[in-house]
Amino acid sequence: MPDLTERLARLIDTSGPISVAHYMAEANAHYYASRDPLGAGGDFTTAPEISQMFGELVGLCLADLWVRAGAPGDAAYVELGPGRGTLAADALRAMAAARLRPAVHLVETSPVLRHAQGERLPAAQWHDDSSTLPTGVPLLVVANEFFDALPVRQLVATEQGWRERLVVHEPSRFRPVPGPPVGSGAIPARLRSAPAGTVLETSPASVAVVRQLASLIAASGGAALIVDYGHAATAPGDTLQAVASHEHADPWISPGERDLTTHVDFEALAEAASAEGVKVLGPVPQGEWLKALGIEARAGALARNAPARAEEIAAARDRLVAADQMGTLFKAMALVAPTWPDPAGFA
Ligand code: SAH
Repeated sequence: MPDLTERLARLIDTSGPISVAHYMAEANAHYYASRDPLGAGGDFTTAPEISQMFGELVGLCLADLWVRAGAPGDAAYVELGPGRGTLAADALRAMAAARLRPAVHLVETSPVLRHAQGERLPAAQWHDDSSTLPTGVPLLVVANEFFDALPVRQLVATEQGWRERLVVHEPSRFRPVPGPPVGSGAIPARLRSAPAGTVLETSPASVAVVRQLASLIAASGGAALIVDYGHAATAPGDTLQAVASHEHADPWISPGERDLTTHVDFEALAEAASAEGVKVLGPVPQGEWLKALGIEARAGALARNAPARAEEIAAARDRLVAADQMGTLFKAMALVAPTWPDPAGFA
């Protein structure tokens, strides 16, 4: 693949500035296709890589829901952006203890990560996107830190009204600049007269995926657990950030060499899902959710089985639930078929 910086610069020179969503989509496609970014030696760490407790509690939550829904024999496990397959492996092990052994469907575009997933989940089937997921069977869907990687549009308030942000390039960097006007219909009423410089992000790609999942779940049963960092209510702000080697980096330099993410707008996802006829529960803070699912008891049991690791287990639990770590910024939201009971942890 030609160097992405050069390719995007050439594209902008020949066809004009590109949208922020285009920039982010190209950058992340290149980034994930070319490496395994997870873990201590990579660029960032996620909840399932911190501790097996995360995937196990997700699996128990889904197994409990499945039992209360009448234990349909044809349910399928679906995961979006499964990374190294760690969450799925931990969740499926916990599910098997409850006699739930679903077919496994993984939505993943990166060949490197598909390979890693295949090592742990040899029976899985892979999908390029959610449009080919099975129909007519209940789906038990998990998406952890998936939506934060999907492209966003950025709209910016100027003295002349709201504009779409476009990306230009300079010798050593890319830069977002105000582009063409956007209709006021795209801007929530309370933000129409926001001060110049205010940025609003929307993610049509995320909305499309949520619509697809919600319509499958509404039609055939099941639920989706969406866990990510972001805000419960739509809020203005430029949240695009880059991370490399566990450090914040400039998102407008070296696209494709650093992970680009934005805060997930849970309100926008909830609205898209409701329109397809599913129940929406949450979002609730990840810390509260994991405590409600029994992380304290699970940590205690693990520590009793491996006393030498007790401190490490307690530290991992704190990282997942403490308010100043992942406990508050990260949130969990459930989309549930109207005919299914509510999953635990969202009361
Ligand atoms: N869920 C994992 C990995 C999170 S990283 C964990 O919690 O550890 C984001 C994941 O989403 C990676 O697997 C990445 O390859 C995948 N991904 C990113 N953009 C994608 C897209 N547009 N379609 C499918 N998968 C995507």
